[in-house]
Amino acid sequence: MHLKKIIWPTLVLLIGVISTAQAVPVFSWDGAVDLLGMKATNTLPAMGAIVVPTSMYGQGLVIPFSQVQSALPDNGGDQREEPAQNSTLVEELLQGNQKFRDGVYNSSIERNLELSAGQDPGVLWIGCSDSRSDPERITSAGPGELFVTRNVGNIVPNHDWSLATVLEYSINYLNVREIIICGHSDCGAMKALDKDLHDPYIPLWLNDAREAKTRVDSRYPRPKTLEEIKERNRQVELENVRLQVEHLMTYPSIKTAVNEGRVHIQGLYYDLATGTLSRVT
Ligand SMILES: [Zn+2]
Repeated sequence: MHLKKIIWPTLVLLIGVISTAQAVPVFSWDGAVDLLGMKATNTLPAMGAIVVPTSMYGQGLVIPFSQVQSALPDNGGDQREEPAQNSTLVEELLQGNQKFRDGVYNSSIERNLELSAGQDPGVLWIGCSDSRSDPERITSAGPGELFVTRNVGNIVPNHDWSLATVLEYSINYLNVREIIICGHSDCGAMKALDKDLHDPYIPLWLNDAREAKTRVDSRYPRPKTLEEIKERNRQVELENVRLQVEHLMTYPSIKTAVNEGRVHIQGLYYDLATGTLSRVT
């Protein structure tokens, strides 16, 4: 009797929720897809979805059953076809690795075998994830020379376990002598500071760079020409490097190492249009 009292209202509520799933404007589908790490589709199935009215991000989510099912472990009896794998890019990477082994790797085989047993990089490089600012390539650094961490905007957040671990490890165990923070031209993260984004994570992440934009815009008159806008954006990118150096010094392990002369910090800026890497002072 008690069970019926619970089951029927629950079923009625569930059917109601499912049938109105597409009509409830509770979220950005692309955002939900991004959050779940799933492949984006433009339409929801005609029937069947889980509606989560609120999430940890304060937004609602609509998750089609098909997506939920595809995220579940294989039950063994399901005869669905595997999703087509676009392996072209992976194939290119693997072929590239073969080329690397045949050429670069084998040409310095002794050094590479030595590195296979341990590393002793002198530099910790904190750079942007941008695909055009690969640190080894733009500095002609060899394998084992740079200990690298990259993120969107070469940001050093004030409280970040991932970066704190990189800092501790590189200072206390690898004994790096130099820490580089490298910004670059045409940085998408710095451009995003001027946009009103509603993604769940990007605006939060960029909070630790906003001060750079504020400083520059209070220092210079509002840019009008294309050249002025370009120069203003470059100044934000440069100021962000200075700001992140300041953030770096808020980490006790870094402050101590710098004060004791064990580590030096240097800001750098990479110009994509000229290939030039220069000091930020
Ligand atoms: Zn960037």
